Amino acid sequence: MGVAGCSENDRPLDPPVRFEGDIFGTFYQVTIMDPLTLGESRELEEGFLAELEDVDQAMSTYRDDAELIAFNEAPLEEWQPLSNELIEVLAISQSVAEASHGAFDITVGDLVNLWSFGPGARPEEVPSDDALAEQLAQVGFDAVEVDTQNMQARRTRDVFVDLSAVAKGHATDQVAAYLDQQGLEHYLVNLGGDLIARGLRDEDAQTPWRIGIEVPEDGQQRAQHVIPLVGPALESISVATSGDYRNYFEVDGERFSHTIDPRTGRPVTHQVASTSVFHPSNAWADAWATALLVVGEQEAMQMAIENNLKALLLVREGEQWRSIASPEFVNYFGETLVDELGIEQLSAPAPTNQPVTGE
Ligand code: ADP
Ligand code: MG
Repeated sequence: MGVAGCSENDRPLDPPVRFEGDIFGTFYQVTIMDPLTLGESRELEEGFLAELEDVDQAMSTYRDDAELIAFNEAPLEEWQPLSNELIEVLAISQSVAEASHGAFDITVGDLVNLWSFGPGARPEEVPSDDALAEQLAQVGFDAVEVDTQNMQARRTRDVFVDLSAVAKGHATDQVAAYLDQQGLEHYLVNLGGDLIARGLRDEDAQTPWRIGIEVPEDGQQRAQHVIPLVGPALESISVATSGDYRNYFEVDGERFSHTIDPRTGRPVTHQVASTSVFHPSNAWADAWATALLVVGEQEAMQMAIENNLKALLLVREGEQWRSIASPEFVNYFGETLVDELGIEQLSAPAPTNQPVTGE
């Protein structure tokens, strides 16, 4: 039996080798084109699942033993030593919070709960104005301070830090980093719709990985756009999508999405149905996709320009959608593809960088 097991492990597998399953409330799908034996594939699966488990242990808000829960329960003002991983994700979050002028804000946790999303979810209902005002008074990303030098962080107000809008992206990065360490060069990782691709789908035929941007409709899993992941060089590229079409509840026909506008304390309710951001790091992509969904079309495109984001917005128009790409998206993927896909380009807005005179 030992001998048989041994030779079985040495058996080469026909690519693609695909691993699929469910993990922390979502799915994972890892596709590998590099040559692998059965034994190697089993080790890889164990390895990347351990990476995912680490992320969950650090930043889940659904398990009592998570590092983030301890941080949320720690006394105010006191610096807490935290894992590298948590510090990194907190730091990315705070950068995006600043650059998005607070549209992305990890201190929305209590609002998320109030709107019946998240770990403390109650029956679906619209919270009272008083309850909202009370929570809103606390919320604000300045209530969290991150000290990356000394690997510590603290809360200065009693906010509940929620990393759901960035943790999945970070987890995708961690899986990719693990596969890189194992010497793999051709893979696609999909964690609940957050993707990262490296190399080619088919090296012989030079076929790129292709990813689908979903039609923004509940229950639909059709692709609105299929985008080949070829950039200037064959570097790894990731994409994260935020949308109002999957995680929401309805009261009297009104849709309440799980993305909260931290400026009003209410779920976002504009015409932008989904935002996709392409970025070398999926954590950044994930955070930015959420930020762009919060602010709506005009401001999202302005932010995409200011921050050189490769962004694709699907905007509702009656029963249909309009797709609109940021200038960086067009630069990266090329005008030809953008035209082929029927994606609109943003016409350049009037420059806003006029010199400021007087004080
Ligand atoms: P998905 O899980 O669908 O990929 P997101 O990445 O957009 O979606 O994350 C949504 C989650 O992020 C919400 O469930 C909530 O926990 C949290 N969240 C909601 N609004 C914000 C916000 N403005 N900034 C940061 N996190 C948010
Ligand atoms: Mg996000």
